[in-house]
Amino acid sequence: MSGVMITGERFVAPYAARRETSRGRRYPEPVSEHRTEYQRDRDRVIHSNAFRRLVYKTQVFVNHEGDLYRTRLTHSMEVAQIARSIARALHLDEDLTEAVSLAHDLGHTPFGHAGQDALNACMREYGGFEHNLQSLRVVDEIEERYADFPGLNLTFEAREGILKHCSVNNARQLGELGERFIERRQPGLEAQLANLADEIAYNNHDVDDGLRAGLIAIEDLRDVRLFARHHDAVRAAYPELASRRMVHEIIRRMINEVVLDVIDTSGERIARTGVASIDDVRNADGQLVMMSAAVHADHIALKRFLGEHVYRHYRVLRMTAKAQRVLKELFDALFDDVRLLPEEYADNARAAEAEQGKAGRARAVADYVAGMTDRFAMLEHRRLFDPGGRT
Ligand code: MG
Repeated sequence: MSGVMITGERFVAPYAARRETSRGRRYPEPVSEHRTEYQRDRDRVIHSNAFRRLVYKTQVFVNHEGDLYRTRLTHSMEVAQIARSIARALHLDEDLTEAVSLAHDLGHTPFGHAGQDALNACMREYGGFEHNLQSLRVVDEIEERYADFPGLNLTFEAREGILKHCSVNNARQLGELGERFIERRQPGLEAQLANLADEIAYNNHDVDDGLRAGLIAIEDLRDVRLFARHHDAVRAAYPELASRRMVHEIIRRMINEVVLDVIDTSGERIARTGVASIDDVRNADGQLVMMSAAVHADHIALKRFLGEHVYRHYRVLRMTAKAQRVLKELFDALFDDVRLLPEEYADNARAAEAEQGKAGRARAVADYVAGMTDRFAMLEHRRLFDPGGRT
């Protein structure tokens, strides 16, 4: 163990993200006496504007459809919960894991994936739009919370975790952070874990939300092996259990099975590869945080089922189509005439255009649209297109 522990510091394994090996922040800052650097990252994410907006952004079901559905905020919290449980078991840095989990969707557009696809289409000639990269833009550039620097000035490790995917083209613009996509290296274990926890979270909560919305029924889900196995076990143990508790008990067990499997499988892989530092992890031959082959096959089968029966259900597709029209119309109207933007944003768009031409203007409009919550996008659409609406 090197150095004195600061308050709040826990034991983390040598292969975890550690302050001695951190690549630090873009703008150096004095260290805090009471919080670790990764705790500060997590706290900065929680205090950001983009984080508060997640409560009004769609996960799968549009925010106004019902109060019990996941939003991007509750989704992000479920991701953080799952990721932290695993992080603690594997002796990873729990605070960094939490920071990445809570920040992973900060760049998401309104209306979930439908919104991201629509905005990507609008931006096709101007470098495209990718929500991962936008999450990074939010924490690096867009948040305005500090006198001394733009964005949240998070550590390299947090930024590395937030940028899950990136095209080689975009990676070239990102300097040190983009290198791993060009050289095909891995991110640290906390980043790998937050990414996997994202999949575990939505795969399970979308079963719950899909059942609640009546898009799928328990009988349909029996085609999915993971579900059927736990359904059988719960029915055998509690034959009289009412359906709501039945569903929650099954989902709880499904999450638990996958979490335990990730802990075992990843623990074994970490031990077998003998990684002794975060750089060893980065240079390892493939990801080390993972499910076993058998559990992964079950997980993929569930994901496929959801794709077919939930995400492509006609009621979801109607919402998707509406959302795409709204975002496209918003983007087109604002891009064609930036004077329609609120003044500060219009100024940004003009400045960006002076520097980078039309692509700069497009990016400024995309930033404005991507930052909207579902309900703000609908309101803004009414203001721009409904002749009887208020402006
Ligand atoms: Mg997510």
